Amino acid sequence: MKRLIFNFNRVFFDKILKDGVYPQTIHIFHHYFKDENAYLKEFIRFAQNKGYVIRGYNYNQKTGEKVVYLSFDDNYETWYEMAQMLKEEGATCTFFINFAPNLMSDGLINAYYNSLGLINGKPIGLDKISDLIQQGFDFGNHGLSHVTFSDLQLSHVKTDLDLNRNFFQRHFEAKLTNVAFPYGSMRYFKKEWIDEISEEFGTIYAGHPLSQTENNDKFVFRSPLYISESFEFNLKIQRISNIKPSLTFGKSLIG
Ligand SMILES: [Zn+2]
Repeated sequence: MKRLIFNFNRVFFDKILKDGVYPQTIHIFHHYFKDENAYLKEFIRFAQNKGYVIRGYNYNQKTGEKVVYLSFDDNYETWYEMAQMLKEEGATCTFFINFAPNLMSDGLINAYYNSLGLINGKPIGLDKISDLIQQGFDFGNHGLSHVTFSDLQLSHVKTDLDLNRNFFQRHFEAKLTNVAFPYGSMRYFKKEWIDEISEEFGTIYAGHPLSQTENNDKFVFRSPLYISESFEFNLKIQRISNIKPSLTFGKSLIG
């Protein structure tokens, strides 16, 4: 059945791929790349060639400007090197970070990254984060502990976000704005929390389509970067998601 839905989506989508119309604003996120960022680099070049600038959420889109808002979730040592590549390509991004791995012992760090599917993963060093802030990269709030928020009460969700924000503020004297909640899917978040969380912590960036009529400053859908698909597919996918939020394509990393 899933396969059938996927094929149906593809027929619908293939028409859009041929129509030459690119969205003005695109929200794309990812976690880490196992190909040493090769796909990401070529994707950025393709998007720039189509007239896009690639930026983080601290960037204000100018009238008529085409922007790919690029963001990454979690906390990876490899972000630093990737960020230098982005800089060389004239791009920036937002890192939605959770600081728990920076506070854990080595044994817990291993267990944590294994659970995310990245064997031998390590958190990015705090000195590296300072460096990235200096370089103009944006940081957002992914909660402290990376637990599934839907298992918690709203007050606990706010505490988790607040602890993470305070950690950032204390270390870097800068504000951690906006939220991407752990695991991205609305299965792990509650619609009735949107107003209160966005008011207190900024715009919420979700990693899965949801019942949303249009983007607003409370809740924005980010599409995963589908690395098994074409660059054009990744630039146009959000048009589909906006039309039919229930549609998803293939499998992506959600973390
Ligand atoms: Zn995550």
